[in-house]
Amino acid sequence: MLTGKTIMISGASSGIGAAAARLFARRGAQVVLMARRAEALRQLAEELTEDGGRAHAVAGDVTSAADVRHAVSEAVRCFGRLDAAFNNAGWGTAGLPLHEVSDAMYDQIMDVNVRGVWNCLREQIPVMLEQGGGGAIVNTSSTAGQFATGAVAPYVAAKHAVLGLTKAAAADYGDRGIRVNALVVGGTRTPLMEAAVRVMPEEAAHARAIQRRLALPEEVAEAAAWLCSDRASFVTGAAMAVDGGVGAI
Ligand code: NAP
Repeated sequence: MLTGKTIMISGASSGIGAAAARLFARRGAQVVLMARRAEALRQLAEELTEDGGRAHAVAGDVTSAADVRHAVSEAVRCFGRLDAAFNNAGWGTAGLPLHEVSDAMYDQIMDVNVRGVWNCLREQIPVMLEQGGGGAIVNTSSTAGQFATGAVAPYVAAKHAVLGLTKAAAADYGDRGIRVNALVVGGTRTPLMEAAVRVMPEEAAHARAIQRRLALPEEVAEAAAWLCSDRASFVTGAAMAVDGGVGAI
């Protein structure tokens, strides 16, 4: 399904991104892993390689355009091209009303979730345009991109912005074969969620879900894999819910 494709994954050192790296590699992709924790990335790349996959780790911070540029150039240097990207790095928290959120927290949430996706789009798209043949980009939003979920207000705003960037990019490059979609992710059992359930009950994280449970990171990765693949050839500008039914009621 992803055979021969080179796919960059941000936020690959844990949670959904790490699950995506394993799944994409199993499906035949060459994966370029990006996150700040170099050792976690190195270990994951080693694991994927031992399992017969092709992986390259590039430590970096998505809030830095230079770091993202470096990761994209490493993808091209190692594997010859960049076919797809899963722009998934993100951070947020819950349990604080808006007026108690510090400027530093606001900045960090906006920088990682919005500027991070912005940096990725701006570095990945020119490479895809230049090499020809289109491309597929998947950005990780959240049910917080559609509702006030209980996450802090800047996270809700940031994940709404990810959907806006996704639609605008899809419109700008649709005629040149680049598809851009977003995942609207519901509560998922990852380290990010483990931190959130220290400040709110776990049931609150899936109270609105028809399925009344958290997702496994692999369930989210499956949707990303499909959107990155040619099987999703007529899907662009979409906000695909992987939320256990939160958006349906
Ligand atoms: P996670 O396990 O904490 O993973 C977050 C990833 O983002 C880590 O690999 C982290 O790596 C990376 N990251 C954070 N800041 C970064 C930065 N400045 N530069 C580069 N990488 C950075 O959480 P997760 O749940 O898998 O989150 C993945 C995505 O899903 C995020 O966008 C999150 O907002 C979204 N999401 C999660 C849930 C949920 O319930 N878990 C629900 C909706 C949406 P380093 O620390 O090594 O940099």
